[in-house]
Amino acid sequence: MLGGSGRSSARRAIVLDAAALILGFTHIEDALAVTSSRVLEEARDREARYRALAAQESALVKVMEPEPAYMEKVKEEARGLGEIELSEADISVLALALQLSKSGWDTCILTSDYSIQNLASRMGLKVKPILHQGIREVISWEVYCGACGWVGDGRPGELCPRCGHRLKRRPRRGER
Ligand SMILES: [Zn+2]
Repeated sequence: MLGGSGRSSARRAIVLDAAALILGFTHIEDALAVTSSRVLEEARDREARYRALAAQESALVKVMEPEPAYMEKVKEEARGLGEIELSEADISVLALALQLSKSGWDTCILTSDYSIQNLASRMGLKVKPILHQGIREVISWEVYCGACGWVGDGRPGELCPRCGHRLKRRPRRGER
């Protein structure tokens, strides 16, 4: 049957808020990384040193707009819970997650925001908190090959120039 269920075949989507985007949670195995244009705007409005990171990461993310009906639904829930601190960007993260869940995606929100976490769990959406503190450090990434140990200029997900294995990345060490 088209669009049939079956847990094992569910497509996975990770919805990123601005902090998750800037911190680079964009390359998650077997999952589509998604965000909204409002989140991108918010990320770009942050301090200059984060702007380059946000731009770099946004290239790896699929940008989707939640349908207005889902935005409304989330705003309604937010009002009901007294969560009035949520920005339009925050609302769009929740709305996207709701929309994707309803269309059969196994969806999880990555966020550092307590209000988003709170509302997500009230709405039955999966949420994975990330540490807000992390955003105070500028993360420097190193692209490497897990198979042969090659390290160099490349993007995660591309193939290793030495052995053809898929490249990964990790925070660069030994700089402090
Ligand atoms: Zn390699």
